Amino acid sequence: MSKILIIEDEVAIADLEKDYLELSGFDVKIENRGDKGLQTALKEDFDLIILDLMLPGMDGFEVCRKIREEKNVPILMVSAKKDDIDKIRGLGLGADDYITKPFSPSELVARVKAHMARYERLVGAGQKTNDIIEIRGLKIDKTARRVWINGEEKNFTTKEFDLLTFLAENPNHVFSKEELFAKIWNMESVGDIATVTVHIKKIREKIEYNTSKPQYIETIWGVGYRFKI
Ligand code: CA
Repeated sequence: MSKILIIEDEVAIADLEKDYLELSGFDVKIENRGDKGLQTALKEDFDLIILDLMLPGMDGFEVCRKIREEKNVPILMVSAKKDDIDKIRGLGLGADDYITKPFSPSELVARVKAHMARYERLVGAGQKTNDIIEIRGLKIDKTARRVWINGEEKNFTTKEFDLLTFLAENPNHVFSKEELFAKIWNMESVGDIATVTVHIKKIREKIEYNTSKPQYIETIWGVGYRFKI
């Protein structure tokens, strides 16, 4: 049974969410404080975490950041204000989705189910689907060689597309610039690995909300790059 952690200080809301999720077959645990929620999230394994923003003990921004340092579990952030969604994105916390209060319990259940299905595809048997790669707001159609970020199509050069796709198909794997250069520019063996840096920069400008806090392609200093899931 899939396990969900709800971190929410409003008891009535937490109980309502729990009831609906249990009716849909999920195993649900509630924490009412941010700090306690973080402890539980790190100690136990959950398939998804529903995280409120305003919490006693530690706010949702900090809880999200700390969970992300250790775990890839999908995080659905709940906020009472639409403005907070921009803030969540801007901080590059690695939340997977956002829902604004008030929401209907059935909407919440639908979102939860969609995330579970997507996460299982990503971390399941093969970490890729046939033609479409979808990771948070990023969608890559390998067949059509098209890329969308939060629904908006972006134009990529051939090498940018190849590099992005290669990294996205091998998430959580650190590649050196030399490895990436050999992989993507293999037929043109005379070249400079600085080409990789330039292409990563261009890709980030297209897919990242804030290029200094990348949510997708992470720089591993002294080593290379890694695509985060
Ligand atoms: Ca709250």
